[in-house]
Amino acid sequence: MRKLETKTIVVASHNAGKIKEIQDLIGPFGFTAKSAAELNFVEPDETGTTFEENATIKALASAEASGLPALSDDSGLVIDALGGDPGVYTANWAETPDGTRDFAMAMDKVERALEKAGASEPRQRTSRFVSVLCLAWPDGHTELFRGEVDGTVVWPPRGSQGFGYDPVFQPEGYETTFGEMSAEQKHGWKPGDAQALSHRARAFKIFVETCLEA
Ligand code: IMP
Repeated sequence: MRKLETKTIVVASHNAGKIKEIQDLIGPFGFTAKSAAELNFVEPDETGTTFEENATIKALASAEASGLPALSDDSGLVIDALGGDPGVYTANWAETPDGTRDFAMAMDKVERALEKAGASEPRQRTSRFVSVLCLAWPDGHTELFRGEVDGTVVWPPRGSQGFGYDPVFQPEGYETTFGEMSAEQKHGWKPGDAQALSHRARAFKIFVETCLEA
C-alpha cells in the first residue's frame, strides 16, 4: 500500500457530477486538482467488465498523460431484480443515438425493465450504488477503494439535486432520494465523521484511511 505524498493530483473524470463530488471530498485536504476534462485529456474506452477494471483504466490514462497521481471513479447502479444491471453499463443506458446522455430516458428505461420483471413492490426493487475509486501513479502503481450504499429504486423520480440516477435512488433508512438531498447530506464527509452516506463518499473514506492518514 502506497501513501499519497503530493498535494497536486488529477481528477480522472469527464463527468461534471462526479468531478464536483470528488472536488467537494478532497477540498478539506488542501489538494490542488484539475480534472481530465479541464486538461482536455482523451476519454479512454471503458473496456473492462468490472468497476475495478474501468476505474483502473481511467486513472492510469490520466496519470500517464499528466505525470501526476490521478484519482478516478467508476460507478453504477446495481439492481437485484435486473440481475445486477445496469451495473458497469449504467452510463451506457443513458446514451442517445447522437452520442449525448439523457438520464431522464435512462431512468425510464430502468423503470420499464423493472415493470417487465414484475418488480412493483419496494422489496422487489432493492439495489445498490457502487463506486470504485482508483488512485494511479505515473509509474503504473494503483490502489483501489470500493464503497457501496444499499437502497431502493423508486418511481416516479423525485428531486433535482445531484446528477445521473439520483432522483430514483432512495438509500436504506431514508425517506428521501439522493435527488432530494443536499450535497452535504448525500456525499458530505470529512475526517472525524464516523460515517459517509453515498457510495462515493464511502470509497473516499477508505482512500483517506489508506493513502493519506499515517
Ligand atoms: P461511469 O463510472 O463513467 O461508467 O458512469 C457511471 C454512471 O453511473 C454515471 O454516468 C451516473 O449516471 C451513474 N452514477 C454513478 N454515481 C452516481 C451518483 O452518485 N448518482 C447518480 N448516478 C450515479
